[in-house]
Amino acid sequence: SNGNSSASESFVKMPTIKFTKLFINGEFVDSVSGKTFETIDPRTGEVITRVAQGDKEDVDLAVKAARAAFDHGPWPRLPGAERGKIMLKLADLIDEHAQEIAKLDTVDAGKLFSFGKAVDIPQVAHMLRYYAGAADKIHGEVLKMSRELQAYTLLEPIGVVGHIIPWNFPSTLLFAKVAPTLAAGCTMVVKPAEQTPLSALYYAHLAKLAGVPDGVLNVITGFGKTAGAALTHHMDIDKVSFTGSTDVGREVMQAAAKSNLKAVSLELGGKSPLLIFDDADVDKAADLALLGILYNKGEICVASSRVFVQEGIYDELVKKLKVKAKDWVVGDPFDPNVRQGPQVDKKQFEKILTYIEHGKREGATLLTGGKPVGKKGYYIEPTVFTDVQDDMLIAKDEIFGPVMSLMKFKTIEEGIERANNTKYGLAAGIVTKNIDVANTVSRSIRAGIIWINCYFAFDNDCPYGGYKMSGFGRDFGLQGLHKYLHTKSVVTPL
Ligand code: NAD
Repeated sequence: SNGNSSASESFVKMPTIKFTKLFINGEFVDSVSGKTFETIDPRTGEVITRVAQGDKEDVDLAVKAARAAFDHGPWPRLPGAERGKIMLKLADLIDEHAQEIAKLDTVDAGKLFSFGKAVDIPQVAHMLRYYAGAADKIHGEVLKMSRELQAYTLLEPIGVVGHIIPWNFPSTLLFAKVAPTLAAGCTMVVKPAEQTPLSALYYAHLAKLAGVPDGVLNVITGFGKTAGAALTHHMDIDKVSFTGSTDVGREVMQAAAKSNLKAVSLELGGKSPLLIFDDADVDKAADLALLGILYNKGEICVASSRVFVQEGIYDELVKKLKVKAKDWVVGDPFDPNVRQGPQVDKKQFEKILTYIEHGKREGATLLTGGKPVGKKGYYIEPTVFTDVQDDMLIAKDEIFGPVMSLMKFKTIEEGIERANNTKYGLAAGIVTKNIDVANTVSRSIRAGIIWINCYFAFDNDCPYGGYKMSGFGRDFGLQGLHKYLHTKSVVTPL
């Protein structure tokens, strides 16, 4: 097992849980059915607390509140700068409570506490400030008509939006949707993932404190097949913005088609390639490759799960990876020395271990890792497979865990072709000092974001999203705002 693991030590830092009810029309309320569900601490497998289980009836109430706030409330009618002011206040409140919120995401999702407090949660506040600054700059254009007509476009909020959020980045991915939706002047119903409901409810409380009017932001905690499906099938929601798996993305689109043809945007799964060329600094490349698959325990849609290494440095890189993977500390995410916490839940933990068994059976070589860490909780060793063939399951499926597939390639053309040989197209990385190689490869890969000599370099102004079956639509950047706006053309004779 991993020599540096500290999973057996116990860092019991359970935060006080203040908010466990649904947030509808500015109030915390029980679900209509009175039902609740357990949310589990992946460090131990024990119950943190019970949370209100929203269902169709609750979604109906939340949509009603959001519709009233959109049709008659102040939010869409406020000058953009006024919406921006409230968003800035919310950003400050989030900064003030960063520690408390980071704790919630750590116990709910197993995320690193020190990173959450210093990076993830402050990033959420920055995102609010970014979109707050855009809220008073949403405008259309004057059109050049071919006849004696005068025309211009208006950009209007799209209406009531349903947001469906995954568990791997409960804060960042929530605000990648909520912040631009607020700026656009829309109202919304948010469904966090059932594994990670706690921070979304805390944010709802802060939004109320900041002055977000009742009904603008509603949070329904609950399950995908019930609460989530009620949103996607709803007749009075104008858009669903979904982040999650490709399989559920397909269901979301079907539900939209079968109900009111609501607009849909999908941020889905990935199996992203990292191409390391012969001229790379091998030590740095090994660090990048490990970060690319182990960050957030591999539970990140853009993880570099397929690493293609050019043959000249393959053997040296394999040696480095073996040493470095063993130094990667797995354990309690509250421990500041730990780099990898537990997988989010038992289901995910078992799924990853099953893929590792598949890899072994298919004939890949287990370079390092492959086993659970500790006796309780859902920890898994950093795992690297070599001798992986492109058609093996571990090279094709999104594992969403700390499992790297290493492959050797000869020419640039071969690297590009094999990197593109996937149904996904979310991200890709390139490691080379050769600008021509970097340019050729970045233009040839069909993916929404390309990182050259870096990985996970996200920024508020930098849109990202999928090609192919990784979805469509972009979060972040001004594109992430425009997806919540309609264009209306206004025409009059001159
Ligand atoms: P998931 O698709 O199972 O669940 C995502 C959300 O959808 C949850 O809130 C869930 O409750 C809800 N849901 C489930 N079934 C539903 C249904 N039938 N109707 C409506 N909603 C439903 O995904 P997950 O396991 O929570 O997250 C992991 C997946 O998300 C991975 O595939 C990952 O790549 C992807 N992801 C993508 C991005 C991106 O930006 N592209 C970011 C993070 C995660």
